[in-house]
Amino acid sequence: MPEAPKEHQKATDYTVAENNKKTLEFIEDVTAKADDVQKRVLAEIICRNAHVEYLKRHGINGNIDRETFKKIMPVITYEDIQPDINRIANGDKSHILCSQPISEFLTSSGTSGGERKLMPTIDEELGRRSLLYSLLMPVMSQFVPGLDKGKGMYFLFIKSEAKTPSGLVARPVLTSYYKSSHFKERPYDPYTNYTSPNETILCPDSYQSMYSQMLCGLCQNNQVLRVGAVFASGFIRAIRFLEKHWSLLCNDIKTGTLNSQITDPSVREAVMKILKPDAKLADFIEQECSRQSWQGIITRLWPNTKYIDVIVTGTMSQYIPTLDYYSNGLPLVCTMYASSECYFGVNLNPLCKPSEVSYTLIPTMAYFEFLPEHQELIDLVDVKLGQDYELVVTTYAGLYRYRVGDVLRVAGFKNSAPQFTFICRKNVVLSIDSDKTDEVELQNAVKNAESHLMPFDARLNEYTSCADTTSIPGHYVLYWELILNGSTPIPPSVFKDCCLTIEESLNSVYRQGRASDKSIGPLEIKIVEAGTFDKLMDYAISLGASMNQYKTPRCVKFAPIIELLNFRVVSCYFSPKCPKWSPGHKQWNDMV
Ligand code: AMP
Repeated sequence: MPEAPKEHQKATDYTVAENNKKTLEFIEDVTAKADDVQKRVLAEIICRNAHVEYLKRHGINGNIDRETFKKIMPVITYEDIQPDINRIANGDKSHILCSQPISEFLTSSGTSGGERKLMPTIDEELGRRSLLYSLLMPVMSQFVPGLDKGKGMYFLFIKSEAKTPSGLVARPVLTSYYKSSHFKERPYDPYTNYTSPNETILCPDSYQSMYSQMLCGLCQNNQVLRVGAVFASGFIRAIRFLEKHWSLLCNDIKTGTLNSQITDPSVREAVMKILKPDAKLADFIEQECSRQSWQGIITRLWPNTKYIDVIVTGTMSQYIPTLDYYSNGLPLVCTMYASSECYFGVNLNPLCKPSEVSYTLIPTMAYFEFLPEHQELIDLVDVKLGQDYELVVTTYAGLYRYRVGDVLRVAGFKNSAPQFTFICRKNVVLSIDSDKTDEVELQNAVKNAESHLMPFDARLNEYTSCADTTSIPGHYVLYWELILNGSTPIPPSVFKDCCLTIEESLNSVYRQGRASDKSIGPLEIKIVEAGTFDKLMDYAISLGASMNQYKTPRCVKFAPIIELLNFRVVSCYFSPKCPKWSPGHKQWNDMV
């Protein structure tokens, strides 16, 4: 007979249900009054910051209404406020952008001049981020009941941080969040009950962090109800890690001891609270992992998993087939849409297909505006179904009418709050993990590499690229068609140098992915036979492209085109080593 529920268990169930209800009511409320909430948010931001230098510079001095704000304040990009950001980074403590002290910089994966953009933030923003996180599980629990009865196996990592010349910390938003008390000292909540102890998430050594998180996830395999990581690429890397290290992991589980490669004392202590000798579990894992096919490995090893919680919208959609393979088609759930500038919104229909995901912006997070092509900006509640807009935010932390760089399409409405499908990041052509390479960066990098061909009287006739995610980790591939005038053959080492020069020329997020996170594999150049790019043009024209307007695409995604290129490859070369990368901006490092 099942044990009768204890008093405190009943209370917990009640609290979970009550809490879910309150959260869903909050969402109903703020979406129903979206415009009022937005008005209030903007009024609050302006009122608090009325006397900051940036607003005064633009003629705002004191409280003003929304219409005046929109008339006076310019819509800006990062480069417009970079001088102000540099002043803060260099120690100017006057109220430049925000009346509250800047607590740290969040380093965006978007770059400017090859370096991560620095987003100023204030302490209270952590509360807003926590609030957005707190909406996710009550929403999810409407569709998948019982998630409070088990654990989540999430692979979460911190990245290295740097200090600005004035001593402010500069680090990615998630590193900031995981190191904050909001995460580390979160009260017990069945919805934030993870298999990974905090110490394993906060371990700066990426191997030890991944190993210990995987080990704890395996040890608690039957309790796991959901698995995930932030982005799809991160979760697939974890599966790849398991492919490489399952034998060592099984040995640790069998003996109940942690191998000597895990040296971090706090990680060892935390893992040893979970790890117990379990020969049966070790045998089971060994048997599953040594099967030839890894299809469905997730559901085999973690049999109670209901879904995979990873972002697969935007460029991450390239990983959907791999995730489907490893999970035998478990639902892929994209819960939220966020950035270093601001956390934006949540997916209120999390079990929908990845292609149908839309995010409802939570109107309390910031003041949102939308830039339609060739028109004036409009408010959150005024966007039109089916239209594309670029997101513009005004935040509590001191960004005013800032273009985030994301293009969103209106997919529907939750009450009066619109829901958006993520279309793309403007201008990005290549991405494997959180790296975002645009066409100009790629062009410059290729130009730098091309100089290696000069001594051989050879030059580049045409090129294109693609993100190859069939290997794990994925890597950038460049297809090069050459014009060879010289008679000396070009040695392979020259092409390898070209690969490395391209990598060295790419932005800091790419180089970090290669050199530190190992989330991106070595760049590859594939030399294609003469005439290949003419064939590519013929093919594009046969599909309806105009002959007059045809331009070689600098990145290709369409499988038949990649096939056409691959069919004509004559040789391939990989970058022989990792490009240079160090934490922090180059100019800060040059100062020390
Ligand atoms: P970062 O500033 O490095 O935190 O990166 C934020 C950017 O990541 C956003 O502006 C988007 O381009 C992208 N991003 C974040 N969440 C999602 C999502 N759910 N789907 C697609 N792209 C996303």
